[in-house]
Amino acid sequence: PPSLHAEELSMTDFVLGTVCTVRLMEGGSKATLDEAFSRLRTIEDRMSANRDDSDISQVNVMAGKKPVKVSEDTFYVISKALEYARLTNGAFDPSVGPLVKLWNIGSGDEKVPPTEKIMAAKALVDWRQIVLDTTTRTVFLKKPGMALDLGAIAKGYAADEIEKILLNHKVKSAVIDLGGNVFVFGSKKDKSSWRIGIQNPESERGEYLGIVSAGQMTVVTSGVYERYFIENGKRYHHIMSTQTGFPVDNDLISVSIVSKSSIDADALSTALFVLGIEKGMEFLKQFPDTYAIFIDKDHNVYLSPGAGKVFTLQDKSYRYAEKCYC
Ligand code: ADP
Ligand code: MG
Repeated sequence: PPSLHAEELSMTDFVLGTVCTVRLMEGGSKATLDEAFSRLRTIEDRMSANRDDSDISQVNVMAGKKPVKVSEDTFYVISKALEYARLTNGAFDPSVGPLVKLWNIGSGDEKVPPTEKIMAAKALVDWRQIVLDTTTRTVFLKKPGMALDLGAIAKGYAADEIEKILLNHKVKSAVIDLGGNVFVFGSKKDKSSWRIGIQNPESERGEYLGIVSAGQMTVVTSGVYERYFIENGKRYHHIMSTQTGFPVDNDLISVSIVSKSSIDADALSTALFVLGIEKGMEFLKQFPDTYAIFIDKDHNVYLSPGAGKVFTLQDKSYRYAEKCYC
């Protein structure tokens, strides 16, 4: 059950596959928190790939058979995901479901699947085979066996939806933390900047390698350190290359995005991770007021243009890369 910490008006619960906390710092009430968490559960009920009755599961079951009508929430998130698929030429692809299911990273008894199975799953990943009909609000996956997975974007959408609730409830200051996707809302009582830590990918949770400091914003990180397994000394994590069918293997350990929009930050953190530093930096140019911080396995830190205005490196074992994109 959700736990309510009355003294500071915050609530924590396990939703969307992760620990979510909303902390009200000025304005709002318990009703605000109740509404926020009920919204989170609705989004999970609609978009989870692991619940039989979710929109996503129903679309997946009907793959190759017929279109399925979905909620407005789900339709919007799929449309957004498709936009990113188009823009990244499929590096970001919400039809990655068959690969996610096959690898099953985070389940506890993972091993590298047989090559034939990887190839078969990869052949089913193709965003061009997703058909959206705006008039009927239906989603159709053209090939049997195809499957949607919104794991790379749903949490971002959820944070933006909580933002709307906070606005409605006239909250002045709050922190939303959806499993490390952080959204700081409004301004702090003392008017100082918000500070969001970027986790050190190689140490315990809560140790920061740097700090992002700004006004209202969201910081979303995609990394290899949250969900992975190791086989024969090699790390297999949960961000998939739709090209190879294997986890992306490009020396990156994390990509953090700073933005005003959490759905974009979430999609971008995954997309830029897949694209890598060079293509990712180029791609980001079309998003104004959005910054990226890439970390590679040799502890180099790469900042996108302008990111230096908000990011400060703190951990001495990391350094700015020689090549500068700023
Ligand atoms: P997290 O969920 O850990 O915060 P991400 O936002 O980066 O991290 O999302 C990773 C999830 O996105 C995976 O668990 C999977 O569900 C999905 N995914 C994996 N590879 C891709 C990809 N190439 N395109 C779109 N979604 C992906
Ligand atoms: Mg993401």
